[in-house]
This record gives sequence, C-alpha cells and structure tokens, in this order.
Amino acid sequence: MRGVFCTRAFTASVMGEPRPVRELVRRATARDNVFLLTQVHGDRIVMSRDADGLPEADGIISDDPDDMLGILTADCLPVLAWSDDPPLIGALHAGWRGLAQGIVLKGVRRMQSLGAHDIQVSLGPAIGPCCFEVGPDVAAEFPGLAVPHDSGRPHLDLWKIAFSQAVAAGVDGCRIKAVRLCTMCQAALFFSYRREGYAAGRNISLIGGLSCSLPGLQAG
Ligand SMILES: [Zn+2]
Repeated sequence: MRGVFCTRAFTASVMGEPRPVRELVRRATARDNVFLLTQVHGDRIVMSRDADGLPEADGIISDDPDDMLGILTADCLPVLAWSDDPPLIGALHAGWRGLAQGIVLKGVRRMQSLGAHDIQVSLGPAIGPCCFEVGPDVAAEFPGLAVPHDSGRPHLDLWKIAFSQAVAAGVDGCRIKAVRLCTMCQAALFFSYRREGYAAGRNISLIGGLSCSLPGLQAG
C-alpha cells in the first residue's frame, strides 16, 4: 500500500481549501480519482463511490486501492488505514472532537464490516503531548488518557488516544505505527493551527493510488 504524510511544502501554494488542494493532487498525480472531504470534526464516514464533490465527513473508505484518499490537518491527527484482504483503504481526520466521538474506532469497525481482518493503521504528524494543552472539560472527554505535564495543566496525546481506539476495535497493536512528529514544534515541516492561527495552511496525508507516482513526495 502506498501512503504519505506530506510536509508543508507540498500544499504551501494552495493553503487549506480542499478544492484547490484536490486539484493540486490531481495535477501532481495525473489522476481524477482523488477524494477529499469537507471536514467538520464529526464522525461521519463515507465511501468514495458515494463521495460526490467534497462531502461533509471526517472519514472516507474505498474498496478500490487505486483511488487516492486525502485528509487535511493542521494539528489534528491524520489516520491512514488499509487491509490487503479484501483490498481496502481508509483515511480519517481525528482531532480531539472526532476522537471524542470515536472516529478511529468507527473507521476501523466500518472497514471490518466490509470484511477487513488484517487492518494496518498509520498515525501521522499531529500536535504532540509536548504542546497540546487542553482545559479540564476537554481532558474529561478522555478519562485516564490525559498526560501529566510540568505546567500542571492536562495535555493530550492524540497518538495514544487513536492507538487505544484502534486496539479497542480489534487491530493488533503491532500493526499500528505512529509518526510522532509534533506539528507545533516542527515549524519547518508542518502547518500548525495553534502556532499560526486561523490562516494556517493544511498538511495533507494521502493513501492509495497504487498505479500512480507521487512526484517529489516520499512514500512510506
Ligand atoms: Zn510539540
């Protein structure tokens, strides 16, 4: 399977609007079957075959690994998932709001409902527990999962929360990998909403497109 978490250089020219980002990816890959979402911090998950335009959703799954699915983030956690038998790919937008609604749990279960039993999950760059200070109301959404911090205020580890949801849904822990790069700390690599504010661009994470190349991008 081919998936990639891009640096900010890739989307710098189009910033965060999904439509121009989709056009950029279509041009870069010379393909039409690139699917992005109008992300709303919810738990709705759509199938690519039903995804006309830019549907309001925070997860997308395809049974055609030649489709290309993308998630835009600027501190939230991008989650890429796939199975080989049957061939399925999925992409999820998992900020704290989506995680509080179980977006990773629901995404894995949706893939399982389509027959996947060998799901692998890759968790991308996101704001890390080093920087993601939250109020007690947000911490209370994740009992037992807030991270102690020297500041005395709770911090969240989105990778740990997503990992726990994937495991709860039945994914073997050794099939879950995390790219633990903090988007707020790594200013040269990633856009960050907390660091740059509303005008921050968006980082893109892509999965699929088995028969196409990704010019200038490192696939992993
Ligand atoms: Zn950090």
